[in-house]
Amino acid sequence: MSLKAVLRNTLLLLVASTLASTTAAQGQRLPGGVHPEHYSLTLTPDLQAATFTGTETIDLTLDTPSKTITLNVAEIKFLSVTSGSQTATVTLDGAKEQATFSFPKELPAGKVTLAISYTGILNDKLRGFYLSKTRARNYAVTQFEPTDARRAYPSFDEPALKATYDISLVIDAADTAISNTNLIADTPGPIAGKHTLKFATTPRMSTYLVAFLVGDFKCSSGKSDGVPIRACSTPDKLDLTKFAVESAEYILHYYNSYFGIRYPMPKLDMVALPDFEAGAMENFGCITYRETDLLVDSKTASIPAKKRVAVVVAHEMAHQWFGDMVTMQWWDNLWLNEGFATWMETKPVAKWRPEWNFPQDDAQDLDNTLNLDSQPTTRTIRAKAETPGEINEMFDGIAYGKAGAVLGMVENYLGEETFRQGVHNYLQAHLYANATAEDFWSAQTANSHQPVDKIMQSFVTKPGVPLLTLSEQQPGRVPVKQSRFFLSAPKNQHADTFESGPLDWTLPVCIKTTSKPICRVLTPEDSALPIPMDIGLPVFYANANGKGYYRTAYTPSQFNAIVAKAETSLTPPERIGLVGDRWALVRSGQGTVGDYLNLVLALKHDPNAAVLENALAKVTSIDTRIATDDDRTQLAAVLRREFSPIYTGLGQPAKNEPFDRQQLRALLFETLGAAKDPAVLAEAHQLTDRAFADPNHKDKTLDPVLTDAAIVITTANGDAALYEKVLAASKDPKDPGAQSDALRNLARFRDPALVTRTLDYAVSGQVRNQDSWIVLAALLRNRETRDQAWSYIQQNWDKVHAQFTTSSGVRVVNATGFFCTAGQRDEVISFFATHKVDASERTLSKAIDSINDCIHLQSTQQPNLHQWLEAQPK
Ligand SMILES: [Zn+2]
Repeated sequence: MSLKAVLRNTLLLLVASTLASTTAAQGQRLPGGVHPEHYSLTLTPDLQAATFTGTETIDLTLDTPSKTITLNVAEIKFLSVTSGSQTATVTLDGAKEQATFSFPKELPAGKVTLAISYTGILNDKLRGFYLSKTRARNYAVTQFEPTDARRAYPSFDEPALKATYDISLVIDAADTAISNTNLIADTPGPIAGKHTLKFATTPRMSTYLVAFLVGDFKCSSGKSDGVPIRACSTPDKLDLTKFAVESAEYILHYYNSYFGIRYPMPKLDMVALPDFEAGAMENFGCITYRETDLLVDSKTASIPAKKRVAVVVAHEMAHQWFGDMVTMQWWDNLWLNEGFATWMETKPVAKWRPEWNFPQDDAQDLDNTLNLDSQPTTRTIRAKAETPGEINEMFDGIAYGKAGAVLGMVENYLGEETFRQGVHNYLQAHLYANATAEDFWSAQTANSHQPVDKIMQSFVTKPGVPLLTLSEQQPGRVPVKQSRFFLSAPKNQHADTFESGPLDWTLPVCIKTTSKPICRVLTPEDSALPIPMDIGLPVFYANANGKGYYRTAYTPSQFNAIVAKAETSLTPPERIGLVGDRWALVRSGQGTVGDYLNLVLALKHDPNAAVLENALAKVTSIDTRIATDDDRTQLAAVLRREFSPIYTGLGQPAKNEPFDRQQLRALLFETLGAAKDPAVLAEAHQLTDRAFADPNHKDKTLDPVLTDAAIVITTANGDAALYEKVLAASKDPKDPGAQSDALRNLARFRDPALVTRTLDYAVSGQVRNQDSWIVLAALLRNRETRDQAWSYIQQNWDKVHAQFTTSSGVRVVNATGFFCTAGQRDEVISFFATHKVDASERTLSKAIDSINDCIHLQSTQQPNLHQWLEAQPK
């Protein structure tokens, strides 16, 4: 699955912890000894009644004779279960989501066929076989990962129990259906007004990758390396599907050649669904998407909007190899799916559109991930997950971001081609089967003859982030000390909540030189990095290419030397790492907020938008988490003084100017708007008026990136008249990206009366429940609106709770982690003690940790901030 879009914006704090969960962790695995080989499924959904009927045969092999067979089901009613002439009685275990079929006589060892007929419901919770709605009609669609295939068909619903599938759908004559493989028959009947669509037999695959989608989808088509590709949507949005096809054509060819293993399915479909919980889902040959992650107007959309679609497409397509062809043995190794897809997702798009600056995005993602993983309650990449609740919690910033970053570090160390060959060998050895972490690192170690096993084992099985503390360079060496880095100050580190044991990171450290970086593997026993005397060091920087998964603390003289030459000697990803390390060290109590702000000012002329974006994001954090109201006024004055001339120097948007320059202008514009620069506010108003007067994007002189920034600024200061316009845009389904932006912009208005309207709207049922939490979380995060939002949520809990799906409640709990007072912390604890949210205990402890960290950061750094501001020229 892809959580990307969501992760970047909203889930920065969401990491499951190693704390014991209070959910019952009873074993829920199937008993074993039963091997499903083939499922034949015929489903007949009733889109009006929101129900379906199913007939199913399962061919399986029994290891030993048995009178019982146990498999997974949820929300299914059995009509009959037979094998040959025997009819089974069915015993349900609701807690385990299992059914046991008991036969009068023993079934023989070897091949057995079960024939099952049943009924189920098309639910509204965005999981299993579920109902999605537009104003025009209903759709019946699926989302099975991780444990919801059992809601659509009785199954051995574990990733290692792979089988082949024949799928048929009986649907209304005017409707169509899309599934994993190509359509091989379309016959009228079995009753008047229906037709039956039959799909080709699938390869061996896991239960959670099956998909079937029913409705009136329309598709754009393309082709790559002989594979037909389609991007599909509801009929009104067909115009928005072309860019996804174009992206997928490039990416499929890229992957065929990168992996040296051809895309295995007869076709690739990508389908945007009006209601969808995650970002996208990699069903084999039939990828499903949230509309905003697939649909974009190829002519008028901004580059960031296109980047998002291309990256999510690349992520899901990478899963066709990592996950679909080769699947993790069990959910504890989910990172073998998600870490790989995350590591891979920018690679083909960066090759396709080098001007879109993906290396900088990767560096920013790494910085965010290091912060997530520097909290005391983080978890290991591989972690125990048995119950559906625990398995759902695995889809977090560790399985995606950390695992992806560790793979990027190993690739940087081995070199791209060596790593690519190791990836090929690993995949080739496990095609249509399952694999473990050991399988991967053994393949890389055998291929490279480097200690990849030791490196990966230490990162996969040990939680947290290494900190390298360097001393002054000596002839031929730089002394270095490894320790575990915590973002919080020492007194908040809860040393008792993480595993003790020897420090055992084995990590590659790459030193920047004037030519190729020199990489050394630092073991726990090493106390220095060897540096050959004769290499050219432009500046001593211990994370060449910015790919290392560690923080670095330099000596003051080393650090000052780096800063002095940062723009000329470091690449943009390295500068992003430099800024990220500095801020992290401030948060951990090793430095002051003044040191950090001095670094930002030293880098203020950086021509790279992503470097400044990363630097200024932390200034926003200082503004919202540390500053008093007086400090905020002074900080805004500093920002105006320092950045206004740089913004003015960029001039007006010009046709065909580089993307990075557009980004830089929009970033400074937004920064100055937040700092209430009068000229920028006036310009933002003007641009906003022009944008709302031009809903069909006819005015080619409007720069889409700058216009988006203008609306962000004006909505934060907006009145009721503007609110009406944004509200109307949030209800217009024509362009899902614009609709989603409008929804986020509604949450920026600060006038209390308008905030109340937004809150009422978010829980009214008018906002899709896939999106309702986004509005609530945004209001909780915003310093100006959080008190009001929190009171409202507590007072209107029934309405709020009614909007929650599998993970949205957890996301609201997570957003309370942005509070920064002891009073609110205590309210959060007492409120959620009596108002339970499913599977949120770990998230709640993390939120409490975050609040405590903020309180500590505020109390220690606010005097420093004040002092620094007072010393600024007035
Ligand atoms: Zn994924």
